[in-house]
Order: sequence, then structure tokens, then C-alpha cells
Amino acid sequence: FNTTYIPHIDEQQVVKGFFSLASDISDRKAIERTKDEFISVVSHELRTPLTSLHSALKILVTGRLGTLSTDGQQMLEIADENTERLVRLVNNVLDLQRIELGKFTMEKQACKAADFMIQATEAMQPMAQQHGVILVTQPVDIQIWVDSDYIVQALTNLLSNAIKFSLSGGTVSLTAQCQQKSQVLFCVHDQGQGIPQSKLETIFERFQQVDSSDSRKKGGTGLGLAICRKIIEQHEGKIWAESILGKGSSFCFTLPTLLRNS
Ligand code: ADP
Repeated sequence: FNTTYIPHIDEQQVVKGFFSLASDISDRKAIERTKDEFISVVSHELRTPLTSLHSALKILVTGRLGTLSTDGQQMLEIADENTERLVRLVNNVLDLQRIELGKFTMEKQACKAADFMIQATEAMQPMAQQHGVILVTQPVDIQIWVDSDYIVQALTNLLSNAIKFSLSGGTVSLTAQCQQKSQVLFCVHDQGQGIPQSKLETIFERFQQVDSSDSRKKGGTGLGLAICRKIIEQHEGKIWAESILGKGSSFCFTLPTLLRNS
């Protein structure tokens, strides 16, 4: 049941009491569950044929099996790029579902923050070079209690966005600092286009983008930040964005530093 309280206000504008309105939302929940299951099954069924299509196109693009006319090669590259986007979308949908439905195992252990900061930045160096962006990190020697694979996934999502929305020549940096005894603050800073204040919250929701043409132009899916938020919340942390339009953005999240038994 969903309960709403409506105040009863008299002529003198004094609150005299509340009406309570209880509505049965079990139908809505069942519909949401069916929708989630449907998306999950479809995405799962799409993944295998898409992955093999993607591998075949990748081989054709190299020209190893014969060369095409310039127009033919161009068509092939468009098909390859779009298949790659579909694979990314399907993988993101599945990741998010897995995390939302709790169908995953977090294997938290004591990790050095420096290790996964270096791992994430090294993984993103090729993309940074492609975009002419300078990518730097200042690794810190702090121990935290996390599943490092998931944290590296969150960091690479944030770094990939920072690079995507930067101009060539810009710098992207990943920093970390101990805030309080039990908390460490990680930030990915960029000098890119920035995000309007009104969108700083909504971009963390599924399929929300500042500009709906971003998915086409930048090859995004609108799911990366929703996945990051779920991962950080599963680690009892918080994630948010700060930005100045035209100057750049910072995506920050906190993680606990103390060893826990969760
Ligand atoms: P995607 O990047 O795949 O579109 P995300 O959920 O990762 O999806 O991001 C949602 C939207 O937030 C992006 O489409 C973009 O509009 C905005 N955004 C995210 N990171 C940045 C950034 N560093 N600079 C500017 N805009 C950003």
C-alpha cells in the first residue's frame, strides 16, 4: 500500500488533522516486475547473436578477408559502430538489472585505492588519446573495503564520460582524498562542456541525458550513471555531480575506509 497524508486546514489556515489515503499498488508493482523481466529476457536473448554479429563485422572491417570499395568500407564501418552501440546498450541494461535485482555477488575485500585508480586510468588511456585528452591520476595510499571490479567499472564509466564530453586538449583527472577517518572522497574532474544545474540530479536516472542527441553523437546509452549510482550505493557511499557550464564538471563519490563485515 502507498499511503498519502492530506492536511485538513480550517478557515484560519490552522491544520486540524490529516486524512490518510491508502492505495493498493500491488498491480503497479506486478506490472513493473513483468516489465523488468521482459527487458531482462529480451536483452539476454539479444546478447549472443549481437556479440557474434559484432565479431564478424570486426573481422570484415580489418580487410583481412578481402577489400571493399571505399563506399562499401564506409558502410561496413557504420554497421560496425552501430552494432558496438547495441552491444553496449544490451550489456548496460543487463548490468543494471543484475544490480537492481540484487542478482550479483559483491565480493568486498580490503583493497588499495591506488591500485584501482591506476587500473581504471590505464584502461581509459587509449580512449583519452583518441580524443586528444590528457588523462592523469594522483593515486593515494588508502585501504578501502570494496569489490574492486565494480569500483573499477564505476570509475571507467565516469572517466569515459569525462573524456567524451571534453574538448581536445582538455585534462581529465582522477583524485582521491581522506575526508574523515572513515570516508574517502573520489572525484573525476573534466574541463568539458559542463552540465546545467537543473540536470545534475536527473542524469543519474535511467536513460536521462542532458541532450537527447547525446546518445547518437557520443555513442552513449544513458545508463552509465544509473549503474554508477547503484554500485556506489551498494558500497554505502554517495555519488553526485558538480558543474559550471562551459568550464567543466566533477563527478564525486564517497566510500567507507574502515573494514566491514558486509
Ligand atoms: P551516457 O553517457 O551513456 O549517455 P550516462 O548515464 O553515463 O549515459 O550519462 C548521462 C548523461 O549525463 C550524458 O548523456 C550527458 O548528457 C551527461 N554527462 C555525463 N557525464 C558528463 C560529463 N562529464 N560532462 C558533461 N555531461 C555529462
